[in-house]
Amino acid sequence: MNKIRIMEASVKKWNQIIEGKGTDGGVLDCPPCRLFYVLVCIGCPIAEYTGKKFCQDSPYIPWYRHQMEVHAKMRKKVYCEECRRLAEDMRDFMQEIVDDLKKKEEEACR
Ligand SMILES: [Zn+2]
Repeated sequence: MNKIRIMEASVKKWNQIIEGKGTDGGVLDCPPCRLFYVLVCIGCPIAEYTGKKFCQDSPYIPWYRHQMEVHAKMRKKVYCEECRRLAEDMRDFMQEIVDDLKKKEEEACR
């Protein structure tokens, strides 16, 4: 699987969460984590994009904090309007990385 496909899978995951059809299992169901995390988080397209490991400086952190501080449930999913907004931020960020990867791939082909 190439990185664009992985990140597209991530956009899909977050769209399902926004639609109320999915939950966020963090590392366990994050498409790039499943391939790149493995305790050290090396080579993940998100980490390459932000320059930070473990999703630091990504919209995942406010989403995670909100889930823990406000809802504190086993399943991380959309419970309120703020959840939806934070999930949309995350989806948009995943899409931004897809677009960036596609742009780089096009440039490499020239
Ligand atoms: Zn919420």
